[in-house]
Formats: sequence, structure tokens, C-alpha cells
Amino acid sequence: MVARVIPVDCFDLVIFGATGDLARRKILPGLYRRWKEGQIPEGSQIVGAARSDLDADGFRELVRAALEEFLPKAELLPETVASFLGMLGYVTIDARGDAGWPELAGFMRAGMVRAFYFSVAPALFGDLAQRLKERGIADRDSRIVVEKPFGKNLSTARRLNESLASYFHEDQIYRIDHYLGKETVQNLMAVRFANILFEPLWNAQYIDHVQITVAETVGVGGRGEYYDTSGAIRDMVQNHMMQLLCLIAMEPPNCFEPDAMRDEKLKVIRALDPLAPAEVVRGQYRGKDGDDYLTEAGNPDSRTESFVAMKLHVSNWRWKGTPFYLRTGKRLRARTSEISVTFKEPPHSIFGESNQWRANMLVIRLQPDEGMDLRVMIKEPGPGGMRLKDVALDMSFAEALGDDLDIPDAYERLIMDVIRGNQTLFMRGDEVEAAWGWVDPVLEMMDERGDVPEPYEPGSTGPEGSMMLMHRDGRRWREIK
Ligand code: NAP
Repeated sequence: MVARVIPVDCFDLVIFGATGDLARRKILPGLYRRWKEGQIPEGSQIVGAARSDLDADGFRELVRAALEEFLPKAELLPETVASFLGMLGYVTIDARGDAGWPELAGFMRAGMVRAFYFSVAPALFGDLAQRLKERGIADRDSRIVVEKPFGKNLSTARRLNESLASYFHEDQIYRIDHYLGKETVQNLMAVRFANILFEPLWNAQYIDHVQITVAETVGVGGRGEYYDTSGAIRDMVQNHMMQLLCLIAMEPPNCFEPDAMRDEKLKVIRALDPLAPAEVVRGQYRGKDGDDYLTEAGNPDSRTESFVAMKLHVSNWRWKGTPFYLRTGKRLRARTSEISVTFKEPPHSIFGESNQWRANMLVIRLQPDEGMDLRVMIKEPGPGGMRLKDVALDMSFAEALGDDLDIPDAYERLIMDVIRGNQTLFMRGDEVEAAWGWVDPVLEMMDERGDVPEPYEPGSTGPEGSMMLMHRDGRRWREIK
């Protein structure tokens, strides 16, 4: 099944940091794919901007190389690549300098959607916003897109918000969390809010607990020094995992509109109880031959976690008594991201003690193999009496919707949403601040305790303490496989 593509309006998109890793790996290949699918109208323009001294042809060569490196060969149709490269322009600009801005202004055309993607270090966001506004390059309808990390804590996030708000209105600011652009994450909303089946059961009366796991097989590698100033809580929990938790726990909004959605997510974050010290476990992978966090971070005394597991409580009528367990880490056994919702067992078994119960479970897989399965109890076929067995009603999107289904990458979808002016899948300033407001005390507690992360074997499922966090509650993590 080929996805229906609705073209967006003609646009002028400027990518600051166009020579960088994110632009080459995600943004530009994503734009190419949307061009190939016919979603980007002829006449649109993409302008790269960075300090590197390139002309338009030099930038086109850089982009061609990026497409060849990051897209499958079969997708690179020579004519389509050539026409895509024809849309590109380039300006040499230092975010903190004065040169290049008049040239950039020269690219802007009246009557086009105007968007500016800040794919640069957050320290430059304010400089870019100021210059775009003061030099009249951005107008009231222009949009700016900002990348993570959005701050390092509440005060830095607030300062970033304030500096952007000096030049742009909130309805012009698109804070990316690419998890929200994933197909399955949006399907989670469809499952919850387009079906009557789950909603009556979606509360503490029927749900025993929720697990959210984001496991990576890679270590911090060459990003070790940067990562060491951040850690799993800042890098994954404050943004991606918090967003997933919000989508599971939020009340149904009255419509699928940006503020309706974001108001409900914000209420979830505000309802989170402070984390108790016993409800968080941090870990560091420690292996030999360079497969070791401390070596990769270049810091033998590092106390930064490459793994964290925590138990969260959402204190409201719907969720009182249902814990949310979050776990994320690097150098784990498998690369997998999933949410599992474990329902409670039926109050009484009519099939006798000999039958083993398995609680119903809804598993939402974000990667790999995006899809969902619902585990239900059935009778094992054949003679031998009533023997029960749990099976998965499996819905792999690729299988259910056709092998040729072309699921757009999260970045592709999100950039098109920016052009459409739809902020539903972007974080609002108060949401980001509320998330930091919850995370800050956790980080402070870690600092005060001065605890050292628990070591774990590279390729394992994390430290022992993470298992204990579950065992204490008589529960188990789902296997990482
Ligand atoms: P990067 O590879 O270091 O690229 C940075 C880009 O910014 C380069 O194009 C660089 O080009 C440009 N730049 C640096 N200083 C500049 C200045 N003063 N004025 C204008 N341009 C300047 O970084 P990245 O990995 O692409 O990341 C970009 C942003 O996305 C960061 O905020 C990062 O945290 C975020 N992010 C990245 C990823 C990822 O997978 N890479 C994922 C999530 C978020 P010149 O040196 O030519 O100026």
C-alpha cells in the first residue's frame, strides 16, 4: 500500500548547520525523500547556511554525497536527485557574525512559507533568532525549528525559551522531539483515541503497570566527551521517554489540535510525584578493550550514567496505584524501543489453579519492526481439557499494511508539519520547562548522594539494581531481545 501524499505549500527553508551531521544524515535525506514522493512542490527552495566557505555547487556536492551515504541506492533516481539538488542554495554565515545575512535575505521570497531550521548547538539559538528578526529576514509568519538538547536543566531551558521568545511567538517555535514523529507513537494515539476498546480499561483499576524501554546496542563512542556532560536522564528521560509517558497517561484531548494535545501532556508531567531515591537506578557499562564507558568518555572518575531505570507515579484519579517503569541505556543486548501496558489479572479464575495465568498485555513497538501486539489468553487447541495459553494478536505494520508501505522517517514527517504550520507533534515551552522541573530534583538528588553508577556488562540488560527495582514489586522487565 502506498501512502497518500498531500503536497505542502511552496516554501523557503533555511537550514543553519547544513554541513553538520544531523543535516547530512537526517534533514537533507528526509527532504529528498519527500521531494521524491511529490510532497514538496516545484518552486520550493532549500538554503544551507554554515560557516564553511562553500558556493552553491560545493554545497550540492556535499548533499549528493550525503544522499549517497545515507539513503539506499534504489532510492537515488538520477533525475530526481538532480532536480532536488537544483532546489538548493548556500550562504556562508557565522551565527555570531555580520557577514552573509544580506545574501540570506536575498533568497527570501514574498508569499512563501518561511522556515528556519536551527541544526546547530543550542548556544547559537539566541544569536540566530536575534539576527533573523532584527534584519527582517523572519516575519510574523516565519517558523523556527530547534533541536535537542533544549537546555541542561530548568534554568538553562528557561533562558533558552526567554531568548527565543524575545524574537518569536510561541506559535512560531517548533521544538523537535523526533520520537513524536515516529509512526507508532502516533498510532498509539490512534489506538487510544480512535477505538472504544481500550479507553474503559485505561486506568489504574485495570492496568497493573506500564514499562517503557529504549535500549541501544551502541556505546557513546566518539561522542563520549559530550555525552559525559549529559547522561541518560538528560539525554533520553527528560525528553523522549517523558513524551512517551505523557501519550500513554494523558486524558483524551477534545481534538487533535496542538494546544489541546499539549495541555493534556503538560497535566501529566505536573502530576508526576517526585522520585524517591530507592526508585532510581543508574548504571555504566564497564568492559574491556575500549568497550568501557569511562574510557570512551575519557574520564576515569565519571559519575555520568549510560543507563537508568526508574519507577514513576502519576498522581491523579486515573493512575493512582499504577507505576510507570522507565528504562534506557547504551551498550545493551539489543536495540529496541517499546512500551508495554500490562493489564491486571481477572479477579477470579473459573479454570482452576492448574492453569497458568498470563496477564493481558499491549505491546507497542517503536523499533525495530514498528507495530503492536496484544497478548490474550486462549484455549490451547486439541484434546486434554481446558488448557490455557497466551498468544499475541500481532500487528506488524509492514505485514498488516503491505510490504511496500513507505513509512516516512520521523524527521520527514516533522519537517513537513513545520511547513504545514502544525505544532501538534512539537513540544511547547511550558512542557519542556515542566519536564526539567521534574528532572532537576532527580539530578540534584544524585549529586547530593554522590553515588557512583552501578557497573553493567556491555551487551547485557543493564545493572542488577534495575532487576531488583522490579523484583521488589513482584514484577519483571520484559526481555530485551
Ligand atoms: P555538528 O555535526 O557539529 O554540526 C554543527 C553545524 O553547525 C555544522 O554545520 C557547523 O558548520 C555549524 N556551525 C557551527 N558553528 C556555527 C556558527 N557559529 N555559525 C553557523 N554555523 C555554525 O552537529 P549536529 O550533530 O549536526 O547537531 C546539530 C544540532 O542538532 C545540535 O544542537 C545537536 O545537539 C542536535 N542534534 C543532533 C543529532 C544528531 O544525530 N546529530 C540528534 C539530535 C539532536 P560550520 O562548522 O561549517 O559552521
